[in-house]
Amino acid sequence: MAEITLNNLVKKYGDGFPAVNDVSLDIRDGEFMIFVGPSGCGKSTLLRMVVGLEDITSGELLIDGKEVNDLSPKDRNLSMVFQNYALYPHLTVYENIAFPLRLAKGKFTNDEIDSKVRMASTMLELDEHLERKPANLSGGQRQRVAMGRAIVREADAFLFDEPLSNLDAKLRGQMRTEIARMQRRMGTTTIYVTHDQTEALTLGDRVSVLKKGVLQQCASPRELYDQP
Ligand code: ADP
Ligand code: ADP
Repeated sequence: MAEITLNNLVKKYGDGFPAVNDVSLDIRDGEFMIFVGPSGCGKSTLLRMVVGLEDITSGELLIDGKEVNDLSPKDRNLSMVFQNYALYPHLTVYENIAFPLRLAKGKFTNDEIDSKVRMASTMLELDEHLERKPANLSGGQRQRVAMGRAIVREADAFLFDEPLSNLDAKLRGQMRTEIARMQRRMGTTTIYVTHDQTEALTLGDRVSVLKKGVLQQCASPRELYDQP
């Protein structure tokens, strides 16, 4: 778990209007934080800065009070689930989930890898599908594999970039419930980006509303509902 602090974060691409404009926010240990707003408001840019895939133009990013502006993604120990899942088509579900652990060469024994993969697959109800390839899975199952791959790493925080936007309405509903359940169970700090109001208001401990790169407000779903 980790506390993630954004201090006056700015991102400019070229010399255009800032994609992220002076955003300050403290995401608490174990909190589920949503970033919501229309397409182009800077959500992905913000997430990519946190994970380290995008340079920060100005401002400061802290993880557990330590400045990480210059740390590589590898050294931030965060785990990101992308919109398009990016599963490896030639690998089974098991090997897709195990992949990040195998990548950390020598860090885990095969037994340790096995027990982590099985814990994740049970939590995500993938036990019966471990030997299948992604092409033979439904959209929701593929999305769960992508999540499995993110959670086996035991990262300090999980970052989700519109993970449900490619699913149909019914699956989105199911997965929403599963994500909420998983996050409560693991208690891991989570940043979740979406343009979907329902996701924002049902999943988050707090919701940060972005507009044209500017943080408009940050409040609990209840406070947002109760607004006139
Ligand atoms: P969102 O995730 O909310 O849709 P983005 O963070 O993707 O928003 O984009 C915010 C703004 O930054 C948009 O105006 C977008 O066109 C611009 N932008 C995003 N990525 C780049 C890039 N690599 N180069 C130039 N402009 C970009
Ligand atoms: P390199 O330039 O060193 O090849 P990569 O982009 O391949 O860097 O990533 C190296 C490491 O950074 C990965 O093993 C992974 O741990 C981490 N990483 C890269 N992208 C992400 C991401 N989106 N979310 C979390 N970690 C990432």
